[in-house]
Amino acid sequence: MTKFIFVTGGVLSSVGKGIVMASIGKMLQVRGFRVTAIKIDPYLNVDCGTMNPYQHGEIFVTEDGGEIDLDMGHYERFLDINLTKDQNITTGQIYWTVIDKERRGEYLGKCVQIVPHITDEIKRRIYAVAERNSLDVVLTEIGGTVGDIEGLPYLEAVRQIRVEKGYEKTLYVHVALVPILHVTGEEKTKPLQHSVNELRRIGIQPDIIVARCQRMIGSEAKAKIALFGTIPESAVFCSYDVETIYQVPLILDYQGMGEYICQRLGLERRKPDWSLWNGIVRSFLDASKKVRIAMCGKYTNLADSYISINEALKHAAAACGAKVQIDWIDSEGFERDPSNLKKLESYDGIIVPPGFGARGTEGKILAANYARERGLPFLGICFGFQMAVVAFARYICNLKDANSTENDPDTPHPILDLMPEQRGLEYKGGSMRLGAHEIIIKPKTLAYNLYGTEKILERHRHRWEVNPKYWQILEAHGMVLSGFSSDGRRVEIIEIPNHPFYLGVQFHPEFKSRPGKPEPAYKGFVEAAIRCNMGARKKNEKEIIK
Ligand code: GLN
Repeated sequence: MTKFIFVTGGVLSSVGKGIVMASIGKMLQVRGFRVTAIKIDPYLNVDCGTMNPYQHGEIFVTEDGGEIDLDMGHYERFLDINLTKDQNITTGQIYWTVIDKERRGEYLGKCVQIVPHITDEIKRRIYAVAERNSLDVVLTEIGGTVGDIEGLPYLEAVRQIRVEKGYEKTLYVHVALVPILHVTGEEKTKPLQHSVNELRRIGIQPDIIVARCQRMIGSEAKAKIALFGTIPESAVFCSYDVETIYQVPLILDYQGMGEYICQRLGLERRKPDWSLWNGIVRSFLDASKKVRIAMCGKYTNLADSYISINEALKHAAAACGAKVQIDWIDSEGFERDPSNLKKLESYDGIIVPPGFGARGTEGKILAANYARERGLPFLGICFGFQMAVVAFARYICNLKDANSTENDPDTPHPILDLMPEQRGLEYKGGSMRLGAHEIIIKPKTLAYNLYGTEKILERHRHRWEVNPKYWQILEAHGMVLSGFSSDGRRVEIIEIPNHPFYLGVQFHPEFKSRPGKPEPAYKGFVEAAIRCNMGARKKNEKEIIK
């Protein structure tokens, strides 16, 4: 009984197909339908875990240890569901499976081809997700832009799904950019028309077109899109710029999109219940306080590189009635000239984010130390947690040149070392310590205060760990090791008492944060940042001087 919605994109990549698809999911969910999402990435990597965030944007991690596309993060956040790694399909996976079958002799006597063997494998994977979850609707986003060579087998596969499942059970949504011509202020629909033509050339006639435009498109542009797209005007919608992405489902449903989809797919007509979502969106829009956070890491131009951290901060801030300003401060600047650390003084809180490799790490260590010394709220995530431990080892335990062996294999004090099971691995792909692992929290600690429980399940992605040989030295000098893996073998959380907020976590709490349900570590950090903003710190200092 499951219905299928396919979302394609035109004109440019990064037009927000993922947000539109997540919004469609939300429109169905508030009408009581069970939905899930699939993301197709037509690249040859088996997963995005081997790409760097500057290339690809953030690597999102699922509970079951998938290293997957960042759009999956949007689906989890909008729909408040956990996805699994098989819901991110890549060309690498498809070919791997088909070639493996060929070697096993499963196609004996046949010539193995893109159609039908590759397309069959694509369909098999989409159907498998649908069957497993007994869902009303499965949404599938095809990454990239219509016309990309890599995307062709996927478009062919979803074209075939229409033939197999029928018109009433399948719906094609095409999302394309409508630029506004700077000189005349006109909305130009020609690029969109071309991308629709490209889609039709492949055999897909879109049922719905979503124009991605800076502002709500006018009736003239809408009429043109409908005419050239061969769809009624009531099937043309516009995703325009809004203050928070969580408004997108509301603006699309207001235009009648939810209603249209239900009617077109023969889903029961139900009144949507937006009350919860409206409240969440209001908390973002109405926030009146401001909190300024410095992210100290390797500089990246791509806003998408740490999207879950940005979102987690926004969720936490909204829950505290605040808007968050996140500024990237290049940690290499602290290495060149440590007086640059002064820049951090004007911030309410400091984050050292996840990372890999030695470049910029000395600056991250300096930033972690600065936050400790100056009483600035600090949150270290994964690599940031590791660098906070290194800073403490160097500056408090007096372990000169202490480091992670990732940065300096010859350090005299390997405070962070490769986990034993990480040694001698042949494959780099999918071989980190990944996904959800249980953590036991010590009572009467900051971590316990935040989570309010002794057991949590958090998502991981790392190869290094705090070296057990140094646990005692760290504790003897006042660092609290407040969370451990459930087998007691690895440190998961550290904190420094008598500090407004100093927390490091080996895991990635940002992957579990949802709008309206901020993640406790982020919430605690943002609360502390608001409490200890610069004004409050200055006042404190004066009182201490008096
Ligand atoms: N590079 C570190 C490790 O592998 C941290 C990884 C991360 O920040 N995700 O342990």
